[in-house]
Amino acid sequence: MHNDPKKYEFGATTLADKTILVTGGGDGIGREAAKTFAACGATVILLGRTVKKLEAVYDEIVAAGGPEPAIVPLDMKGATKSHYQAMTATIIEQFGKLDGLLQNASLLGVLSPFEHIDHDSWNDIMKVNVTAQFMMTQALMPALKKASQASVVFTSSGVGRQGRAFWGPYAVSKFATEGLAQVMADEYDGTNVRVNVINPGATRTTMRSKAYPAEDANKLKTPAELMPTYVYFMSDDSIGVNNQSVNAQ
Ligand code: NDP
Repeated sequence: MHNDPKKYEFGATTLADKTILVTGGGDGIGREAAKTFAACGATVILLGRTVKKLEAVYDEIVAAGGPEPAIVPLDMKGATKSHYQAMTATIIEQFGKLDGLLQNASLLGVLSPFEHIDHDSWNDIMKVNVTAQFMMTQALMPALKKASQASVVFTSSGVGRQGRAFWGPYAVSKFATEGLAQVMADEYDGTNVRVNVINPGATRTTMRSKAYPAEDANKLKTPAELMPTYVYFMSDDSIGVNNQSVNAQ
């Protein structure tokens, strides 16, 4: 493991010839990760539920001279096993393999006291943040196994390591994410698939402003400032690094 992934230095060829799928690639941290991976030479697959946002990221990557991305419009709330299997078949057909998977998309829901947690909202958050990530990752295994070395990165949160009042289903979902990553990392240890977790920490995005509407966003790190850690875990420099849960700031 790099002694400090936050200080990892990367450039235009760090991710050359890699194909990397980013969920929630249309906004926030996922958008920045997709653009950065492309700037490092990767072909990115932009998955998300708002096609306009994905198209805007696609345009930015192409305008910057990056490899032409692919777009997968998909709402992880409703997607089924067959959607993920069809996507995997297309990835194998078009790219032959998948070198990286960034499970980044998540729902925050509404922060509320325990007794007011809405059951439908609980189910939606568990579906998008946990079950869909499990289903998608499971379906993608054949594509990940075709890469010489593949990196799966899940996205956690401070409240996925220590519960906090009012963070209800979101916090529980992030504990589950840490658990899923640990189970996978242990199971695939010694294979070509490594599994790690990044906690971005407080970052200037729409999700953060929903959780903390009164705070001064200018004091927060931008998604761009987190990118050394994200690129490190997708790069060959992290081959052999498995079952780590790190902070990007
Ligand atoms: P944003 O809300 O800014 O972006 C989330 C992205 O996920 C959006 O592109 C969104 O799509 C997409 N998404 C949400 N629901 C679905 C769905 N059902 N199907 C497909 N895509 C979906 O969040 P951040 O960038 O802030 O967060 C990224 C990750 O980092 C999350 O896992 C979050 O939990 C984690 N995190 C963030 C922190 C922060 O301070 N920002 C702190 C700790 C963790 P759309 O644009 O259409 O809404």
